[in-house]
Amino acid sequence: MELVIQNLSKTYPNGVQALKNVNLTIPTGMFGLLGPNGAGKSSLMRTIATLQEADSGSIRLGDLDVFKEKDEMRRVLGYLPQEFGVYPKVSAEELLDHFAVLKGIHNSKERKETVAALLQQTNLYEVRKKNLGGYSGGMKQRFGIAQALLGNPKIIIVDEPTAGLDPAERNRFHNLLSEIGENIIVILSTHIVDDVSDLCRNMAIINKGEVLLTGEPLQAIDEM
Ligand code: ADP
Ligand code: ADP
Repeated sequence: MELVIQNLSKTYPNGVQALKNVNLTIPTGMFGLLGPNGAGKSSLMRTIATLQEADSGSIRLGDLDVFKEKDEMRRVLGYLPQEFGVYPKVSAEELLDHFAVLKGIHNSKERKETVAALLQQTNLYEVRKKNLGGYSGGMKQRFGIAQALLGNPKIIIVDEPTAGLDPAERNRFHNLLSEIGENIIVILSTHIVDDVSDLCRNMAIINKGEVLLTGEPLQAIDEM
């Protein structure tokens, strides 16, 4: 499975050209999108996630035309935005169960098993009864991943995930992403070079809305 982005451009109403003729092919595995603040990373991530429209260009996921088949794209996509809210007064288990209902998992036995497996995978099973308001930043991030993994997505998008995490949490989060990246497309958007060189099989560097280069991390970063 590949995500193929062709000639993607976006100018906001204020005149900022956030994406300039972006072309990228993203294979299965961990893909790093590296760039400074304001480079256009979130604009690109939101466009892939069908949360905003581009002015021109196309995105395909395998046979799927993302702009024409938005509902289908949303079914196979997990998106973890940079800032995501949690409901502080419910537990991880309750909220994940609720999202599982929204994802269409109506059979309660199946839902229970799915939720338990995701809580185990994200290392939150022990604290599943705790209210999310009491979670650390790293725990919230992992909860976000559990939520994004509901419904067996083919692609996961993670926007600036390790900001504010301590080194132990960052490691734990990286291990989790690596495991997920063995089977599906994981796009990691970040301004931290080490996050990309530690984790990603392939990468692109973006600045001022333009893809400057793509390749394997060490090679690409050495060429900078
Ligand atoms: P990054 O995620 O790399 O920080 P963004 O995609 O958020 O970059 O932003 C790219 C540029 O587009 C920035 O100059 C930003 O201020 C601008 N921008 C982002 N979103 C909007 C918006 N909704 N309206 C106007 N300008 C925006
Ligand atoms: P990032 O940190 O990823 O660059 P931002 O903090 O720039 O994201 O954007 C947060 C929200 O504000 C987004 O919904 C974005 O569309 C909006 N936004 C960003 N820059 C501008 C801008 N210059 N004018 C209007 N909205 C903006």
